[in-house]
Amino acid sequence: MENSISNKQLCPEFSVEEFEPPKVEIFSWMAIQERIATRSVLLNRNMISEIQLALCPLCSENVETPQHLLLRRVSWEVWSNILDWWKIQWVCPFSLVELALWWFENGFRKLEKCIWEVCFFATLWSIWIARNGVIFNNGSALAWEVMDLIKTRVAMWMKAKFDIKVYTVKDFKGYLDGIRKVKL
Ligand SMILES: [Zn+2]
Repeated sequence: MENSISNKQLCPEFSVEEFEPPKVEIFSWMAIQERIATRSVLLNRNMISEIQLALCPLCSENVETPQHLLLRRVSWEVWSNILDWWKIQWVCPFSLVELALWWFENGFRKLEKCIWEVCFFATLWSIWIARNGVIFNNGSALAWEVMDLIKTRVAMWMKAKFDIKVYTVKDFKGYLDGIRKVKL
C-alpha cells in the first residue's frame, strides 16, 4: 500500500492533487536561459568580491553558474541516473539549451511522452531544491537522494494529472518500463 503521508513529507511543497506546479516550468525555462540566481550572478554584479564565495555549493570546485549547477558534477550523475531509469544512452550535452532541445525532440507518444517531459522539469527543479537545502538548511545533495525525489515527484505529478490510482509511487520507481506503455 502506498503511504501518501510520507510522499507529502518528501515533497512538502506540493499537494498530492496538484500536477506539476506552474512555478516548476517557469523555473525551468528561466534556468535554460541562465536567468536564475546562482552565485555567479552575484559575482558578475560585484555583490560578492571573492571567487571563493561564488563556488558551487554542491562540489565547491567551480563557480556556480546555472549551467554548472544543473548539468555538471553531481547533476551530471543525476541526469545519467534518470536516463538509466529510462534505459536511454546519452552523451552529456554542452549546454542546458542543447539538453532541452534534445529532450523535447523525443519520439515518444502519449503517456510515455508526458512522463518523459515531466522528468525534465522534475530534474531541474529537484536539483535546485537540493541546492537551496545545502545553502540554507545545511542539507545534503547526494545524487541518489536527489534521484529518489525526482522519481517521487514524477510519479506524484503523473498520478495527479491522469488520476492514476492503480500504480503507486513505488510502482513508478520500480516498473517504469511497464507503466510507460500503458494506454490510458
Ligand atoms: Zn558543482
